[in-house]
Amino acid sequence: MNTSTKILPKRKNIAIVAHDHKKAEMMAWAEKNKEVLRSHRIYATGTTGKLLEDVIDAPVHRFKSGPLGGDQQIGAKISDGEIEMMFFFWDPLEAQPHDTDVKALLRIAVLYNIPLASNTSTADFLLNSKYFEEDYEMSVMDFDGYLNRQIL
Ligand code: PGA
Repeated sequence: MNTSTKILPKRKNIAIVAHDHKKAEMMAWAEKNKEVLRSHRIYATGTTGKLLEDVIDAPVHRFKSGPLGGDQQIGAKISDGEIEMMFFFWDPLEAQPHDTDVKALLRIAVLYNIPLASNTSTADFLLNSKYFEEDYEMSVMDFDGYLNRQIL
């Protein structure tokens, strides 16, 4: 598949999602990094967003709660190109009622090649990357071949 590039700007649109058993870990990580998180636009699923607003003391664009459609709303924003990075603290020890949505969100993040962290170590690496605070030229797949594929 061909690729093109897109600029991920210095001020990024970042989604943060944490499953219930990961919320405490997410909040500790956000507290540690609140200064830097505040300088970007933060989006989150409902409950995560409510907690985050208190921790980082800045507005968070809140979607519906994950099990109520929030994961799908974030996925739609990734495919629209609006959300450009995601910190998704998903729970590896418990099945979720919306497992299908979780899988779909992870798939769409990989498809659109957005930087994606699923645990606090990767989140720290991402936040401390030299690309985090500057423009970054990212590679995006060109779907023309797929869109123009022979059907009949
Ligand atoms: P929540 O959703 O932030 O509303 O708890 C998270 C999720 O389970 O996707």
